[in-house]
Amino acid sequence: MLNFNTITVAFIVLLLALIGVHFFYSFPYYVFGILVLLYAVALFYGSYNLRSNFYLKTISSAQTDRPQIAISFDDGPTPAYTPEILNILNEHGVKAAFFCIGKRVKENEELARRLHEEGHLIGNHSYSHDMWFDLFSSKKMTEDLQLMNDTTAKVVGVKPRLFRPPYGVTNPNLKKAIRKGNFTSVGWSIRSMDTVARDARKLYEKVTGSLKPGAVILFHDTSKATLDILSRFIQHAREKGYEIVRLDKLLNLEPYA
Ligand SMILES: [Zn+2]
Repeated sequence: MLNFNTITVAFIVLLLALIGVHFFYSFPYYVFGILVLLYAVALFYGSYNLRSNFYLKTISSAQTDRPQIAISFDDGPTPAYTPEILNILNEHGVKAAFFCIGKRVKENEELARRLHEEGHLIGNHSYSHDMWFDLFSSKKMTEDLQLMNDTTAKVVGVKPRLFRPPYGVTNPNLKKAIRKGNFTSVGWSIRSMDTVARDARKLYEKVTGSLKPGAVILFHDTSKATLDILSRFIQHAREKGYEIVRLDKLLNLEPYA
């Protein structure tokens, strides 16, 4: 399998082989440069493709033929959109997953409690969601994830076990932090790109056009466009015969420690 370990071993073996060959047959130095460049591209690709499981195993969908899907929201809770999103979910009797940012749980305690009381799942999406999160040391990442869990335990009374990497970026430090915190990394199979969607119609077409059994949809409860299409999206999915189940049920995972 192509992951960080196998790619790194292959890189080292090839590098040593090239050094050996270069000893007997002279060839231009840029050949070494090409090898290093290919290795760097592989690392970069692995970092930005959660579903490649390059650095760590992430569960992004269910392997099933049953017409079931799960909806998830990242980056909340926020007073701007989360309450209205909850109203829509309630209206339709849908239970969703919310990968919350710890500092927003702290700022919006009532809202965080409402998520849980209304039967939705709370996942860990880091405490800070810092712009430079991916450059944190593994110790700092571990502390950040722990602070999110401590905050949620204090405010809501549950300790999330499911973690979704901020920005969907992974690296060896995050792998260590996830292992230390005993989290399961959870991704998505349909990325709505709702935070950059220019209009609601395009967003609706994108998410409805990609539905398939076992899919996990990524929305943000910070997006006006998502609020605008959510009700229609749920109706559409049901008309197509999909049952919308809570993410932990779809993926058969324990939600809390
Ligand atoms: Zn996020």
